[in-house]
Amino acid sequence: MNIVNLEKEAIEFIKESCNFDETVVMFSGGKDSLVAMDLAKKAGLNHAVYINSELEYTISRHYVEKMKKYYFIEDLKPENDFFEFCNLLSPPSKRLKWCCNVLKLVTSMKYSIKNKKYYHITGIRGDESLRRSKYDKITSDPLLFANPRYHFFEVNPVFDWSEKDIWRYIRHNNLKFNPLYRYIDRVGCWCCPFSTKNEWDLARELEPEGFQKFKKILNVYSVSNVTAEYRRKYIKNGWRSYAFKYLKFPVIKMHNVSNHYTLKGDNIHLHKLENLLFILASNYSINNNELTFTLEMNLQNQQIRLLLEKCLNCVGCGVCTVLCPVNALYLDDSKTINVNKDLCVGCLACCKQIDSKLKMGCIARNYKKERLSIVF
Ligand code: SF4
Ligand code: SF4
Ligand code: SF4
Repeated sequence: MNIVNLEKEAIEFIKESCNFDETVVMFSGGKDSLVAMDLAKKAGLNHAVYINSELEYTISRHYVEKMKKYYFIEDLKPENDFFEFCNLLSPPSKRLKWCCNVLKLVTSMKYSIKNKKYYHITGIRGDESLRRSKYDKITSDPLLFANPRYHFFEVNPVFDWSEKDIWRYIRHNNLKFNPLYRYIDRVGCWCCPFSTKNEWDLARELEPEGFQKFKKILNVYSVSNVTAEYRRKYIKNGWRSYAFKYLKFPVIKMHNVSNHYTLKGDNIHLHKLENLLFILASNYSINNNELTFTLEMNLQNQQIRLLLEKCLNCVGCGVCTVLCPVNALYLDDSKTINVNKDLCVGCLACCKQIDSKLKMGCIARNYKKERLSIVF
């Protein structure tokens, strides 16, 4: 199809698919989302957000600043610090891809819930990867499907476009594209585990400070987590595909007779459970290393464990707070998950098994190497 017809079709699609009051463009600084943002503007929506994390290339940041002359782009700053989470969890890898959730997803979801932006226009294209080819022109975010109140839609107007179509559109409309494309084909985060060798070499050159900081983290991590023989390889390249075998430390034993529960363990661990225990029971007691409560709803032991283990392992990322339909989940002063008793309506969205991007609803449960656990 010629580019003019592709454009017409995409603009019609945006108009038909979105309620503009509830829509925002997710601009990444890349060419695909640039085209999506331009199409949205032509359709009548000039509002984009850019997640400005410390993983963006400086060149990309400057480019986005310049683009604010042509489009209304809001910067969103992630609350979580990438380097801090590398220490709390592990440096990310293809198999330990926590950074998308901890830096990007939670930032965009919190913004969207607060500003009632349920439609996200993206530059996702089907031919980018096998995983993306399984998406559709409109997809629903599976994580937010666990939230009974909010449903988010990714609207992908260039889903069927080829890379060639994207460049044709950019040339045809004389759009300014990210100068990083002069060096690399993909302008994502500079320390992405999915980066190629060329991209990694470029990161060393263009982001020397961050690069050295990250290298130091890889070094320190490898000393206590990687075998001596593998260490050099891990620091050079191996971190990208690294996966650990997580270690489970049972610290609490739980048993029940009907809906009466007893949990035995160290008082320090039992008191941590108080943060979310209210969701399960309005009354409980802790005496002599024993916690007792009467369950007030129909939940399986596995679900109770899921909820209470969050209190034991929380690393304070805030990702699971977006599961709550009434905003009752929050991080307290010690950066641990907690619940506002006045807001909680007992819907149990935070206890149920959640598949897809955030299995079982907790970053720590998915990505922490040493996990404290409850056995029954
Ligand atoms: S693009 Fe790569 S580095 Fe950036 S958040 Fe996603 S996985 Fe992590
Ligand atoms: S049970 Fe309470 S805290 Fe959990 S998701 Fe429902 S309202 Fe939120
Ligand atoms: S409970 Fe898990 S997902 Fe929620 S803030 Fe803590 S670590 Fe993050």
